[in-house]
Amino acid sequence: MLFVKQFTFSPIQENTYIVYNDKGSCCIIDPGCYSLIERNQLKGYILSSGLAPKYLLNTHCHLDHVFGNKFIAETFDLIPHIHPEEEQMLMLAPLSGTRWGLPFDNYEGKLVFINKHSVIELDDDRFEILETPGHSPGSICFYCREQGFMISGDVLFEDSIGRTDLPMGDHATLLRSIQTQLFTKPDETIIHPGHGRSTTIGREKQFNPFFN
Ligand SMILES: [Zn+2]
Ligand SMILES: [Zn+2]
Repeated sequence: MLFVKQFTFSPIQENTYIVYNDKGSCCIIDPGCYSLIERNQLKGYILSSGLAPKYLLNTHCHLDHVFGNKFIAETFDLIPHIHPEEEQMLMLAPLSGTRWGLPFDNYEGKLVFINKHSVIELDDDRFEILETPGHSPGSICFYCREQGFMISGDVLFEDSIGRTDLPMGDHATLLRSIQTQLFTKPDETIIHPGHGRSTTIGREKQFNPFFN
């Protein structure tokens, strides 16, 4: 059984997720902690809850989703898991940081590449990887089929979708990703997005203006 804890970090208001099970194993997805206070908040939650971090996962590598990668990797001795198409985005992130007035120390160590054939196992539970390019070329969603939820990054939001005006974004590709990878899942599937409130596949099929 997996449980989801959400934080919202940085001036970009990015959602960082800790997904943990009853044995205390956890994965940290998109650590967007920017300030020292936010880093201490994330680390403090993990330590005070007695959680053992097993994976550092990124839905994609825009700056707001990787602000805390170096901190989490060093603190818990983890290697970021990303889609290979996102390595180029990770390289670009510090430049975006400078442009946005949010400079940060980028992670520069080893990477583990994952794709649609990979499975992330947390003891008895598992995430399938959905490849959902469009907002970013190697955007992926971590889908827990058994419990009907996914950590989906900047693909689908409540009443909105990810922006596609950033480098290598593509609107038609994003719409296709949502139609083929997300809208094919059961309506009650919960979407935990990279920004804003959680929603469901069924709600977005019915009300999302991009699909009506
Ligand atoms: Zn993004
Ligand atoms: Zn984002």
